[in-house]
Amino acid sequence: MSFMIRAAVCAAFFLPGLGMAQDAPAPASALSRAVAEADNRQPAIPRPEQEATAQSKLDAFVELTGKRPNILIFIVDDMGYGDSGAFGGGEMIGAATPNIDALAAEGFKLTSTYAQYTCTPTRAAVYTGRLPARTGLIRPILAGDQITQNPWEGELTVAGLLSDAGYHTLLTGKWHIGETEGMRPHDVGFDEFYGFYKAQKEYTQDVYEMRFPDLVLDPDKRARYEAIGSNNDLVYGLADGTTETVETIGSITKMAEADTKLKDYTIQRIRELSEGEKPFFISHSFMKVHADNFASEAFKGASASKFPYRDNVVEVDAHIGEIVATLDDLGELENTFIFVTSDNGPQMDSWPDSGYTPFRGAKGTTWEGGVRVPGIAYWKGMIEPGRVSDGLFDLMDLFDTSLALGGVDASTLPSDRYWDGIDQTSFLLAEDGESKREHVYNWLGAQLAAMRMREYKAHLLVSLPQEKFLYIDMAAVVPTGLAPWLFNLYIDPKEEYPVGHRMNAWTASLGAELKAHGATFVKFPPKDLGL
Ligand code: CA
Repeated sequence: MSFMIRAAVCAAFFLPGLGMAQDAPAPASALSRAVAEADNRQPAIPRPEQEATAQSKLDAFVELTGKRPNILIFIVDDMGYGDSGAFGGGEMIGAATPNIDALAAEGFKLTSTYAQYTCTPTRAAVYTGRLPARTGLIRPILAGDQITQNPWEGELTVAGLLSDAGYHTLLTGKWHIGETEGMRPHDVGFDEFYGFYKAQKEYTQDVYEMRFPDLVLDPDKRARYEAIGSNNDLVYGLADGTTETVETIGSITKMAEADTKLKDYTIQRIRELSEGEKPFFISHSFMKVHADNFASEAFKGASASKFPYRDNVVEVDAHIGEIVATLDDLGELENTFIFVTSDNGPQMDSWPDSGYTPFRGAKGTTWEGGVRVPGIAYWKGMIEPGRVSDGLFDLMDLFDTSLALGGVDASTLPSDRYWDGIDQTSFLLAEDGESKREHVYNWLGAQLAAMRMREYKAHLLVSLPQEKFLYIDMAAVVPTGLAPWLFNLYIDPKEEYPVGHRMNAWTASLGAELKAHGATFVKFPPKDLGL
């Protein structure tokens, strides 16, 4: 098996769920409120009343406007949970974020929003509604990788499904889930792509002399680096196969200005699309604030801290504000569901070019610091302002929620595969809606490392840095001992002192839940890429 369920944890507990009648699978354990609608769907907490409320609200919207809502998802790269003022940072850490804060104050702040542990798996999960361990989209496919099949083959994306349902779908900005034909955004469901295949650092490392003199100043190495032939362009692509270079980056200055170009493009397209009949689905995926950060001309020194990372947080916040203001000017704000998030925790390895998290760990780990991200849902007139909830929200839920908003019936999706997302429309739209998600699974590549259920978090594998902050470059991933490391996040959000089996009555239930999740990989085997 390519995934890892620790025998020591699970062997003692019964294997629940299996053998139950297919139409009504029971919860995996006594602790669980979740039931599965089908054996290929992530179990969810039934909330029929709020679902009815949300559905009638949505139906009334569609009847009034004659259209499905627009969907706009902002994904900031590597922004820390605690970077924005709304989540405890802002002015306190020398980078005020008034626009993000306003969306949180006038929208719905989700304090327990979860990403995957790094960029590619999170983005793959959001777009496919499936765990990367199932699709194989764990990391970008690199030149030289000997894969036996394109991981995108046979996958459906939220962009493609919404496009088929009458939406115009656009990805502006970062992709990072493959750059060869068949793996690009406009090959896998987006009608339109204007952005970059890779992370920010990968466009500047061959010109960043101060950090990489061994590459930049050595002609032989430089020639070899260039011979790899990786794409260094801002790319424009269409679903018909059109793929054009807008510009080649090749300099720090151009990279620093890239997010302004992306913002301008999204604004231009929103203006054009608002004239048309189709609703739009836009994923506006910032290049910032992934290391290495360089401030743009307009935002150099704009933060109180004056550090490039913080200047870039201020820039990202300003861009979000400008795009939202455009929607308002066009009269589209009431027609647009907006979500703001980050794709993983801050990359502490690049400190001080890093964000802030109040939690343990960082990007590259399944500690809260690696996977817990800010989440803001905003929809003027449709989401009650000022709401805050600690209900679990996995970014994969954006897949199912977007489909529901777009009028796509998820029960029509293929039954030959497992779907991990949950439709959270009723959580967001019903005034007193609660999360339908009972579990969040934290995978580390192809290994199941941890699970959060309610306020409990159980770790089977932990990343232990050998130096402060070096969670990627010098950490060991270690299996836990006889018992999983079990924390109560309400009394210990920093995961510092386990409650373990001594202080937790639910250890057996959590083991059974982990085992039930593992069993879905037996019933629906993950894709084998031959990697
Ligand atoms: Ca990232």
